[in-house]
Amino acid sequence: MRQYIFQNTISKRKIFRFVGIFSIISLGILIIFLFVPEILMARPGGGQSYSGGSGNSGGDGIGGLIFWLILQLPPQISIPLIIVIIVFYYFKNKKEKGHDVSVASTPTYSNKFNEFNSVEQSIERFKQKDPDFSRLLFWDFVTSIYHKYYTYLGKADFKNIKPFIASYIWEQAQNNPLNKQTDISEIVIGNINFISVFEDDKYTGIVVDIKSNYTKTKAGKSTRFVLTERWLFSRKRGVLSKPPEEMRDLKCPNCGAPADFNDAGECQYCNTFIVAGEMQWFVNQISIIKQEVFKTQGLAHYEQEIGTDYPTIVSPAINTYIQQFTQSHQLKDWNLYWQNFTDNIAYKYFIEIYHAWSEMQWQKVRHLLSDRLYESYSFWIESYKREHLQNRLDNLSIKRIDMAAIESDKYYEAFTVRIFASCYDYVINREGKLIGGSKKKARYFSEYWTFMRRSGVEFKESEFSLHNCPNCGAPADKIGQAAVCEYCGAKISNGDFSWILTRIVQDEEYTG
Ligand SMILES: [Zn+2]
Ligand SMILES: [Zn+2]
Repeated sequence: MRQYIFQNTISKRKIFRFVGIFSIISLGILIIFLFVPEILMARPGGGQSYSGGSGNSGGDGIGGLIFWLILQLPPQISIPLIIVIIVFYYFKNKKEKGHDVSVASTPTYSNKFNEFNSVEQSIERFKQKDPDFSRLLFWDFVTSIYHKYYTYLGKADFKNIKPFIASYIWEQAQNNPLNKQTDISEIVIGNINFISVFEDDKYTGIVVDIKSNYTKTKAGKSTRFVLTERWLFSRKRGVLSKPPEEMRDLKCPNCGAPADFNDAGECQYCNTFIVAGEMQWFVNQISIIKQEVFKTQGLAHYEQEIGTDYPTIVSPAINTYIQQFTQSHQLKDWNLYWQNFTDNIAYKYFIEIYHAWSEMQWQKVRHLLSDRLYESYSFWIESYKREHLQNRLDNLSIKRIDMAAIESDKYYEAFTVRIFASCYDYVINREGKLIGGSKKKARYFSEYWTFMRRSGVEFKESEFSLHNCPNCGAPADKIGQAAVCEYCGAKISNGDFSWILTRIVQDEEYTG
């Protein structure tokens, strides 16, 4: 009997010790689990309002409750309770997380299509009121202010963007001491997507998602981040859009001089105090939706293709624009033109551009790309090079090209096509060893490619040559980083002479 009690006590103690260790470990896991999403999604620069939506409110409460249970109750009661709480929160969180992931990464086609349609329609409605509005120029403006915002953050030059950001954002950014210790560089914008266009009684608003990456350096330590940010741009109702020169770079919206303002927002050229939104768009809200540390391991990682079988998302206004395009270019036959465009532009660009990608000779297609696209893909190519990796796209063949959107505005014409293709898509290392993908199994995929050129440009697509300057006809072998032809001095990448590829979007991400 004694022996039994003794043994029993020992074993109970063992159990308690085991359960105690287990609950401490669980508690540790729980605390990590509750707080890490916040750490991973912390804000990069400060000054912005944050909306990460990681769903971890109440984290302190649960941790506190468990500590209280351990301290206050005998282990026989507290431990089962803690286990129940942990299991409950684990499944609750898993359910919420699972829900988040499914919404964020694979929205259903019909959801996407509905969103797309409503955004497209609101842009069309907005263009009726502001005929000078150009989606492509707006992207340029967003790119320009985004670059300057992060480059100038915490520095004296930050005053130069004062008329383009809301005063509360400006003040918060100026007052945050972290910004002075941090340097943001190598800013690359991958994509800008329109999320909504709306008006209230005072302002017009445009919400865009900006996919970007940049390097943040603090106390000598640099980290590269991949981000999705949601920015709201506002402008007083009734103000009309500015011409290309004032949208591609930040200029005084009163006199057109390069942005040079004092702390009060006074232009140093025309001495006018510029109030945000009076004459030009300004940044009214900044939220970081997603932020991850860039990892080079991801370069050789292959996910299954999503969205290749989705129906093509076609712009609701496409027929109006086809008609308009046919008239303005006095085409006899739209179908013939379309055939010419797909054969001589879309098809050839696709093969040429992906060949340059495969060979890692991005500079060879500099004259076919917009500045933004050139820069963002340069970043990826440089990343592969740094890791001594190469992404090969062998036996690339185009299966089909669909028409997705045609748009024109006062300044630009844009064609978006969806290209279906297949290739052996794989990554090799310096020794030629296969690291990811397959050399034997072809990968089918589709992407939306947007081409643009200046309105009014007449150019015979059938006479187009990929290897010559579209302005002077000289060989396209002396095109610098800035896309200026050394023979004629013309900048090619704005589409002033011929078609330029300005955007590549994966089928599952395309929202117009
Ligand atoms: Zn001025
Ligand atoms: Zn030239």
